[in-house]
Amino acid sequence: MFKKVPGTKDILPGEIAWWLKIEESSRRIFSLYNYQEIRPPLIEDVGLFNRSLGESAEIVQKQMFLIRNNQDTYALRPEGTASIVRAYLENNLDKTNSFSKLYYTGAMFRLERPQKGRLRQFHHLGCEVIGSYQPQVDAEVISLGDRILKESGIKGYRIKINTLGCSQDKKELSSSLRKGLKDKLGQLCRECLVRYERNILRVLDCKNESCREVVRSLNLSSSHICKECADHFKQVREVLDSLKINYEVSPYLVRGLDYYTRTVFEFVHPDLGPQQDALGAGGRYDNLVKNLGGPEKGAVGFAFGLERLALIHQTPGHQDTGTPGNLVYIVTMGEAAKKEGTKLLDYLRLSGICADTDYEGRTLKGAMRLANDLKAKFVIIIGDDELKKNVVTLKNMSSGEQREVKSEDLLGELKC
Ligand code: AMP
Repeated sequence: MFKKVPGTKDILPGEIAWWLKIEESSRRIFSLYNYQEIRPPLIEDVGLFNRSLGESAEIVQKQMFLIRNNQDTYALRPEGTASIVRAYLENNLDKTNSFSKLYYTGAMFRLERPQKGRLRQFHHLGCEVIGSYQPQVDAEVISLGDRILKESGIKGYRIKINTLGCSQDKKELSSSLRKGLKDKLGQLCRECLVRYERNILRVLDCKNESCREVVRSLNLSSSHICKECADHFKQVREVLDSLKINYEVSPYLVRGLDYYTRTVFEFVHPDLGPQQDALGAGGRYDNLVKNLGGPEKGAVGFAFGLERLALIHQTPGHQDTGTPGNLVYIVTMGEAAKKEGTKLLDYLRLSGICADTDYEGRTLKGAMRLANDLKAKFVIIIGDDELKKNVVTLKNMSSGEQREVKSEDLLGELKC
């Protein structure tokens, strides 16, 4: 028998209700904030990601699924931002709208070592605002993420924010880090030694305790942040305070991709474990639109990992309290009742009621057991007696109450 590819997941019928619910509630929230959906393709020219994320990013170095076709190399998208900026520029959205608020959801692919909460195919739910440098927009995006988590019933998460400053500030931080770490390389983990060479800022948010200790010992300050960037960050915090969003400033929070500048943030949850505690993350990327050949446009966005939200949803205190389904299940006894049942089934469905029946000729007891397994809200029983009286027997599965209802009154009874 074939097995699924490691790091992929079947989303089974029993899980789908949660997925539909979070997609539906997020779409509603995005619309309230005036965001519109965009659906770029799943494959892109690999160069797009090399250029956007930076050649030294881990994703580019070792996590891209590549497809070679003659001279061209395509990548299965590892994230959404680069594709969306590409689509924004290619379709001249910058010319029709100086300010675009976009959201997206869909599969992403990264060739990672699979583990809990770390898949090779996973789903992002995210947004991008392109065309503004205003700190209010950073705060809007963070508060939007917070609203999505709240309305999906996710509890116990924290919001961490930081500022990386502009490109010049990032350069200064990189060089003071390089100086500070030079004599402490022996205390860093293997991955941080590679980061030291290729992407030194990532050493700051290594989860390894010995690396954290080294970073703490450097006593880094925020003196590399220029006045404009410090002001920007102050205003982001002021808006968040005014919106009563709980956040903490986390000076060691950096994001692994080259394109981030100024505000970066993460939504973290302790139940995901210490190694990968982010439910979602994002930040400002003021240089990316220009870097991909467009005009100077400030931009900010985030993405949640839906599988990680699903993991948290499965932990105690998060499950729905057994909301009943809305299925009406028809059980018939005898040939004449079966014919009547088939017509009633069609009528209920046409009337917008979710209905099903037992096609297998089970006994009354067997059919009732099945209705119970299907979490039916009502069962309609039709036998010779009911046919004679022109009624059906209606059983309310949660109260157990059972009574005869006239055919013409049935719809009203089911809808209440
Ligand atoms: P990133 O683009 O890496 O900032 O990812 C944004 C969010 O996507 C993370 O906070 C995770 O929730 C989720 N995510 C990233 N990589 C994976 C993965 N390999 N498997 C599952 N979820 C992921």
